[in-house]
Amino acid sequence: MGYPIKRSLSRYMHDAAFEHLGIDATYLPFEVEPGQVEIAIQDWLATGVQGGNVTIPHKETVASVLTRLEGDAAKLKTVNTLVREGDEYVGYTTDGDGFVNSLKEQGIEVNGKEVALLGAGGAAKSIASALLRNDVKELVVINRTTARAQELIDELDSGKTGAMEDVSDADLIVNATSLGMGADYLPPELNQVVENLSEHQIVADIVYVPRDTALLRAARERGAKTIDGLGMLLHQAALAFELWTKQPPPLEVMRNALLIAAEK
Ligand code: NAP
Repeated sequence: MGYPIKRSLSRYMHDAAFEHLGIDATYLPFEVEPGQVEIAIQDWLATGVQGGNVTIPHKETVASVLTRLEGDAAKLKTVNTLVREGDEYVGYTTDGDGFVNSLKEQGIEVNGKEVALLGAGGAAKSIASALLRNDVKELVVINRTTARAQELIDELDSGKTGAMEDVSDADLIVNATSLGMGADYLPPELNQVVENLSEHQIVADIVYVPRDTALLRAARERGAKTIDGLGMLLHQAALAFELWTKQPPPLEVMRNALLIAAEK
């Protein structure tokens, strides 16, 4: 569930995975208006929905409605995955681990790295927590609203706030803001980031529409290695699939379905 849901790439990944494993299930997008989340969850329970995903803007609302949250979902009060257990849903978040797994498959271990994280919203929170669990050396949270960055650091009891120009010290820079979403130009707010980049750095953008964001293009021009947001989308979905089905996700089947859908 999300609002709006114009186009869901997730359904292609999950339907391909269900079909591949012979599981009689389908994944459907539900556009749920703000204020209707609790009713939607009751409807899902009543109609036998076995699990689901939650996206913008409902991740925090769903966390406040559920009585059972696990792991980072409980710590950060954000939910992107629902798993039915009896007559209720248990909430999880797979965003952070999905992000870390997307780096791992590119041969990037976050352990020991200095990381500059841009953003302090829902996705940034989950990513920050997963980075700390994976033993980053230092985490600097840079957000337009500094108080929100400080809140995140206080919640995680680690890290520090910073400014855009602080990215020059980082091994890895992660854009977890919505800056650049749906745009083909570099948002001026990210200019300072680009100006301070050099070729030994890695830039990951979790924005995946467009796949090759202006930030990633500009970072490559300065010699940095870049990672796009489709990897995180794939890996958070794979972790959700495993939670629903208790089966290893067919990652390559899901990746192929995602790449085909993203090209359309
Ligand atoms: P969110 O909770 O609404 O957070 C948005 C963040 O962007 C906040 O830190 C906000 O700063 C910042 N921001 C927004 N507009 C800005 C501007 N004009 N200048 C500076 N900062 C700005 O959203 P979210 O759920 O974290 O999602 C963020 C992005 O990640 C979206 O593009 C989403 O599509 C993407 N995403 C990708 C994946 C994936 O699998 N690849 C998964 C989840 C999300 P303030 O705190 O100052 O408002």
